[in-house]
Amino acid sequence: MTDTTTTGTATTVADENVSVAGVPTGLFIGGAWRAASGGATFPVRDPSTGEVLAEVADATPEDGMAALDAAVAAQDAWAATAPRERSDLLRRAFDLVRAHEDDLAALMTLEMGKPLAEARGEVVYGGEFLRWFSEEAVRIGGDYRTNPEGTGRAIVLKRPVGPVYAITPWNFPLAMATRKIGPALAAGCTVVVKPAELTPLTTLFLVELFRRAGLPDGVLNVVPSLDAKGLSEPIIADRRLRKLTFTGSTPVGSALLKQAADNVLKTSMELGGNAPLLVFDDADLDTAVTAAMLAKFRNVGEACTAANRFFVQEGIADAFTAALTAKVDALRIGRGSEEDTTLGPLIDDRAVDKAARLVDDAVSRGARLVTGGRRVDRPGTYYAPTVLDDVQPGSDILTTEIFGPVVSITRFATEEEGIRLANDTEFGLIAYAYTSDFARGQRLAERLETGMLGLNTGVVSNAAFPFGGVKSSGLGREGAHEGIEEYLESVYVLTPDPFAA
Ligand code: NAD
Repeated sequence: MTDTTTTGTATTVADENVSVAGVPTGLFIGGAWRAASGGATFPVRDPSTGEVLAEVADATPEDGMAALDAAVAAQDAWAATAPRERSDLLRRAFDLVRAHEDDLAALMTLEMGKPLAEARGEVVYGGEFLRWFSEEAVRIGGDYRTNPEGTGRAIVLKRPVGPVYAITPWNFPLAMATRKIGPALAAGCTVVVKPAELTPLTTLFLVELFRRAGLPDGVLNVVPSLDAKGLSEPIIADRRLRKLTFTGSTPVGSALLKQAADNVLKTSMELGGNAPLLVFDDADLDTAVTAAMLAKFRNVGEACTAANRFFVQEGIADAFTAALTAKVDALRIGRGSEEDTTLGPLIDDRAVDKAARLVDDAVSRGARLVTGGRRVDRPGTYYAPTVLDDVQPGSDILTTEIFGPVVSITRFATEEEGIRLANDTEFGLIAYAYTSDFARGQRLAERLETGMLGLNTGVVSNAAFPFGGVKSSGLGREGAHEGIEEYLESVYVLTPDPFAA
């Protein structure tokens, strides 16, 4: 069903269980919704059935440049606004996100597949970045310093970086957008956002909420496209762009860094993970199992923070594996929009093929299949929740981001061995550890090669804390006061000693 509203072309997106009206399907450039310049569209599908949910405008490279033009035109005026004005816009957008919790949750479930309860959780989490950065907007500071010789004074001031290009992934369609838009707008930067082609509807709806919140023309623009590379290259090559912020896979992030190098563009990169999850003999078993379920199965395992490699100490391994398997077998597979679903579909066929290939490889190398290990025979792209024990060195599953509902367990003997196994990866986004020994927790915090550590917990994401990785997992931090610094430059002004004669 298509209708024309103040948003331009909007549609109703629905399945048998949920329905969202007024979802924009165009490009938003310079404060107006419009069709793509060639008029092309692309389909967005429901992964739980494969059915088309909506047709979305397919931005051309010319549309991308029009969006950059709009962001550049709006930059100076936006940078000159009072911090309170930027703060108030973000706060109104936050209120609208919370008021539309059901719509946004339903949209994410429809286009991405996650269970509704988790999608509602993402509305709260994703919305928080707007509230947090509405509060940060009015706390951008400066500094006053004396040089070591005492002969001069420096004033250090902060300025917005300038127009930002933000590229987001499909797995957290709301939060990955607000985590960039929130701090950029708070800092005084204008934005062009390109959502993932698999899940653009949530971002389009979010941008519409910003429009209703009073967004000035050109400050936030959105250009979905099937041709991510063709759209992005000219934007990144344009010297008027001042910042590239990307969340997605490490190979794409690495390719974008090479493009950004030509203009020495400021970048933030939130890339792939291969999270270790360590369970020590002294862990509280219930805590470890409950937290491990969250760390692994949240978002159907399709999270950069998903526990990828379980390392379990020998003394607790049998009990942990048995208790975890009981919980895994109790997961209820189904469409995300059915209220009792706890495990939805994977995003597409490729994701199912990847999970199946990794499990088959691990079993062929000697892993023991405890449960699962098969595709689910129903329409849509489902893979059964799986537990593998005794996964052997050299198995692909230890070096590949699984992005699916598969637990891979390897047993270890000593803390030293556990740390060595955990660090044996090119990635370093997050680690999880379960132990009742606080000093051991501190040793792990100091020795694990990671940007984040979940100690006796299964979820660390929080707008108030600095999210990000080391090694091939990325550059920069999102959230917290660190998050806004990514969109600010320091300028220092040297003055003579005011007491000199
Ligand atoms: P992806 O790299 O395939 O795509 C991410 C985005 O980049 C999409 O919008 C896509 O259209 C775009 N893109 C792809 N090729 C491009 C190109 N050549 N030029 C410009 N843009 C391009 O990743 P994905 O499959 O959407 O997301 C999954 C990956 O994202 C996983 O590796 C996951 O770990 C990672 N991720 C990381 C974080 C984090 O915070 N570190 C968060 C979520 C997801």
